[in-house]
Amino acid sequence: MRRTLVAANWKMNGNKASNEALLEAFKKGFDGSADTAVFPPALYISQLAESLKGTDIAYGVQNAYFEEKGAYTGELALSMVKEFGCQYVLIGHSERREIFGETDEQIAAKVEATLAADLIPMLCVGETLEEREAGITEKVVKTQIDAVLKKVGIAAFEKIVIAYEPVWAIGTGKTASPEQAQEVHAFIRQLLAAEEADVSQRTRILYGGSVKAASAEALFGQPDIDGGLVGGASLIADEFVAICNAAQ
Ligand code: PEP
Repeated sequence: MRRTLVAANWKMNGNKASNEALLEAFKKGFDGSADTAVFPPALYISQLAESLKGTDIAYGVQNAYFEEKGAYTGELALSMVKEFGCQYVLIGHSERREIFGETDEQIAAKVEATLAADLIPMLCVGETLEEREAGITEKVVKTQIDAVLKKVGIAAFEKIVIAYEPVWAIGTGKTASPEQAQEVHAFIRQLLAAEEADVSQRTRILYGGSVKAASAEALFGQPDIDGGLVGGASLIADEFVAICNAAQ
């Protein structure tokens, strides 16, 4: 019912030559068993548009702003993102929340504007290590999702992809166990189900946090894990191909 989706977050890495090498290897090795999307640094969107033409591999930006245009130096409007063929917008990644101080309210506004531009928001949520150790993982994730629910309503979640990314597992090599991840994914689905059961069954919830080829199959095999958002391993062609091809 929910097709697996595997997304690559390249963060601030790469150059034209390394991007092309990654994309060529990916196009060659990917078996098409999942939906897939690549988030390069925004300057390389045209390169991806050209390279991925005629394939089923989607692409998107790692961030965009909610205002339509104007004096917002350094920001990208969603109309621009759309004009360059993007399908997805990554929103609320923990690095945006932590390093750039994005708030739940700004993130909710970005989700709303992304939907209005007819693009797919990939909304990242997740707790820090301190929050997990304090036993407030569910409370944190609920607060992050409630801010968006309040802004766009439950029906919009049909079009939103959620990425649960425990901050302590991002770039640290510490993957949540399939059971630990499943527990939070099930909790997120229950949150949505409390609003509208049908929608909750259709919303894709991805796991992110040091996913590797070796851990992908067990993670994707969990009932409420619908794919992955992959950082470090998405920069290694063979790893990322193997993660995508682990989808059933
Ligand atoms: C991410 O940045 O979204 C991520 C999951 O990174 P990594 O796979 O490197 O932990």
